[in-house]
Amino acid sequence: MNRVCIICGAEFDARRIAKVCGDECRKEKKRMLHKKWYEENKEKEIARVKRWAAENKEKYKARMKKWRVENKEKDRAYKNKWYEENKEKVGAYNKKWYEENKDKHWASTKKSKERKRQSDAFFQALAMADAISNNKSL
Ligand SMILES: [Zn+2]
Repeated sequence: MNRVCIICGAEFDARRIAKVCGDECRKEKKRMLHKKWYEENKEKEIARVKRWAAENKEKYKARMKKWRVENKEKDRAYKNKWYEENKEKVGAYNKKWYEENKDKHWASTKKSKERKRQSDAFFQALAMADAISNNKSL
């Protein structure tokens, strides 16, 4: 019986109940479904990654380091792209941090380091969530 592949539109002979014509389209379908799922669960997923990172600091650090070395260009491009698309969010995040740390703001450089660390952790969680959405396992 002939079916039409839902990914590439090619007709194929389906012996089993299949919606795609072959392995490549099966992979693509899986990727698309995962992406859709990720878009719908982004907030939750980022929260989950952050929680995991907080509970597995050493593991997380090691994996992020490895990921960054392997994806140096991608990491930078991703940060730039994300920043361009989320300027307002970054501004709000910085403002929020400032509001919460007002009294300490000018007090010490230690705090500004802490702030940088928090902001890095924020980006790393996003990068990690992005990596997950690209089917890389934690
Ligand atoms: Zn196909």
